[in-house]
Parts: sequence; C-alpha cells; structure tokens
Amino acid sequence: MLFVLVLAALAPARRDPRVEAIVQRIEPAPLQATVAKLVGFGTRHTLSDTKSETRGIGAARRWLAGQFAASAQGARLKPFEDRFTVEPGRRIPTPAELINVGAILPGTDPSRAKQAIVMTGHYDSRASDVMDPRSDAPGAVDDASGTAMALELARAFAKEQPAVAVYFVAVAGEEQGLLGSAHLSQRLKQEGIEVLAMTSVDIAGNVEGQNGVVDNTRGRLYSEGTPAAETEAQKRLREEVGGENDSPSRAWARYVQRLGERYVENLDLLVMLRRDRLARGSDHMSFNQQGFPAVRLSEMVEHYDREHQTPRVESGRAYGDDLAHFDAPYSAKLCRSLAAAIGSLAFAPAPPAQVKLGGAVTPDTRLRWTLPADPRIANVAIYRRRADSVRWQRAWLAGKVDHVVLQNVVPDDEFFAVSTVDPAGNESLPQPPSELER
Ligand SMILES: [Zn+2]
Repeated sequence: MLFVLVLAALAPARRDPRVEAIVQRIEPAPLQATVAKLVGFGTRHTLSDTKSETRGIGAARRWLAGQFAASAQGARLKPFEDRFTVEPGRRIPTPAELINVGAILPGTDPSRAKQAIVMTGHYDSRASDVMDPRSDAPGAVDDASGTAMALELARAFAKEQPAVAVYFVAVAGEEQGLLGSAHLSQRLKQEGIEVLAMTSVDIAGNVEGQNGVVDNTRGRLYSEGTPAAETEAQKRLREEVGGENDSPSRAWARYVQRLGERYVENLDLLVMLRRDRLARGSDHMSFNQQGFPAVRLSEMVEHYDREHQTPRVESGRAYGDDLAHFDAPYSAKLCRSLAAAIGSLAFAPAPPAQVKLGGAVTPDTRLRWTLPADPRIANVAIYRRRADSVRWQRAWLAGKVDHVVLQNVVPDDEFFAVSTVDPAGNESLPQPPSELER
C-alpha cells in the first residue's frame, strides 16, 4: 500500500493533454480499413508482382506510399522512402529492390536534431513456403496490423511538435530475413542519427490463442537483456552492477508499459524478459544490432495456424492469416499504448547523462548525474526497485538536482535509474548508472 501511495503522488504520472489528444485520435475503424486494403492485395510476398495495380507487393507499397503522402498534406509530417537493392541470399534468389515507406515527423529542438524515435510494422507477408511469391498470403495480423499502426500513428502525430524526430515506417522484407529494418537501421546509423527508442509492432491484432485462450486486455513487450552490441566497458559495468535486466531496450520496454497503462484503460503490458518469442524474431533485432534500444510489441495470445500459412482447409482445420481474425478494437488499444509512449518520450527533455552510482560496501546509496542544458527540464525523477523485481516499485521527484543520497538504502539490494521531467510530466527514458563511483 505504501508504495502505491508513493506512485500515486508521483507528478510524472499525470496525463499530458497533448499526449492524451494523440492517443484519442487512434480509432479501430481506420486500422480495420487499412488491414482490409492490404489483405486485398492477395499477397505481399517480397518477390511477388511489382507491376500489377491490384495484386502483389508493388501495388501494396504504392498504395501505402500514397497514404503516407496524404497524411503529410498540410502537416509537419514528411513522406519518407528508403529504397535499396538486396543481393542474393538465403531467402533472396536474385537481386531484388526493396523499399521501406513511411513518414518522418521532424523534431523542434535544434540541439537534438540527430535524435529520433522509430516505430515500424512490416508490410510484406508470406505463404507456407517462404519462397512462394504466387500463393495468397493475406498477412492480416502478420503484419498488416503493425503496418496499419504505422499509418495511424503518422496521422495522429502529423501536426504535433515533438522535441525529437519520429519515424513511422512500413518496412519491407521482414519475412525474407529482416531485410528492410536491417537497411533502415544501418542507414540511420550512417546518417549519425541516434535512435532513442525503436518499436517493431509485429503480430498485434489476434485475440484468440491456438489453445482457445481469449485475451484482449494484455499485450507483450519483448526486449533483449544483454545488448547485442556491447562494448567491453559496458560489459564490465553490466557484470559489476548486474545490469542485464536494465539494458536500454528493457528500459524502453518498461517505459512503454508504464505510459501505455497510464493512458489506456483495460490494458496490461507485460515486460517479457527475452529478446523475442522462442527462437523467433522481428525488426527490433536489426536495431539492436546497430546498438539502438528496441523492443517488439505483440499480441498476448497467438494462433499458430494463422501465421505463415497458405490459406486452406485440411481435414476440417482452417489455416491462414485472414481478415476475419483481426480484432481492430484490441489492435487500437495496443496502438494507443504505443502512441502514449512515443508521444511522452518525443515531448520529454533530454535525459540525464553520466549517471554515477556510489555507496558500495556502505548502507547508503549515492547517485550523481549531469543534467543536459535543456531549458524544459523542470524536475528529476528517481526510480528504484528491489533487485528481485521487474517493475519499478518506487519513484519520486527529487527537484531539479544533480545528485541524491539515499540514507539506509543498501545499493547491493536495489536497482536505480534517473530521468528528467518537463512541466507537463513527460519524462525521458530513465537512465540506469553508466559508471560506478570508485
Ligand atoms: Zn511478422
């Protein structure tokens, strides 16, 4: 009860009316319409027809590009295209042109012009045979659902003025080996863009599990523990503090959980302590490879007969990822949770830097950090949780300070993080210690 009261008193737990407005713009009907339209292209296999106006990946991509362009009309949003050729590989027999399409909402803070938040859904689909470009591959949930969210989020954010840029991208070639996201993440890295947080929305609209469990009130957030791209110094620190549960990706997963649950009713988000589902993957992993924090947002229960299956009936058993099993109201809830998290982070001030943890072999914890020169920083929030917990258990505002001493808090037994907060309560990603006081 005590820590519930502490959390309730926490000023960042307020809803910012600007974020609330963005969240409320997300509706089930347009998500349903987009998923239906994408299913209508028959197949969106990466190697399918690119010339037809009605069937195949080319028609789907041109329609999507048109929708993103329309959403940018008269807004701050800019259409975005990332076109490249992939050489033959495991799931690519001959050189193929792939195109990521989407929109960028530019940031307003010139000192953070090289920072961005990214979300993706993959617009390609597949049949049972991953090399089959001709059979129907409706891909309603996998992943017209995430693609529709990219479009709806772009529309919802179109006129907003975030501090940092936000990318909403329908990526290509996921089923052939995360090809579109690999190119996009490498391109951003080469452009010197620091991706603060990335989310792959993949398989996010089915509510009936293969085992009959129905769930439309929960969603899953997958994130890596040990970062795929880790320097020797980061590895040493992680081992010394036990930081495998506080990777930048996991900090973003907790943030999406906290903000999503703050703005969306009847939704619980689970911070899953693994990179993805068992032996499976998605586009967030491409961003992890480039050293960027990235998570996967996915539905709570999956129906495996409806994934990666050519539509058919065999011995009375129906297979295929069809429109009938896409649940738009549930998908809209997941989309709203991501809108809340992206909105909050995009409006938030720059995070604290060089967070230093001290107090080893003493009964007190010392935290020290550097505040960036961001005039919108109104306060600093301190987070703590016991070392056997997943969720932050206590949080409070410490004032606009650059250090705290926590008397009688044994640093061996807790984890800590520090974030900056603006006057509306929007907060940066909580930063765990990046250095130890020696
Ligand atoms: Zn997928």
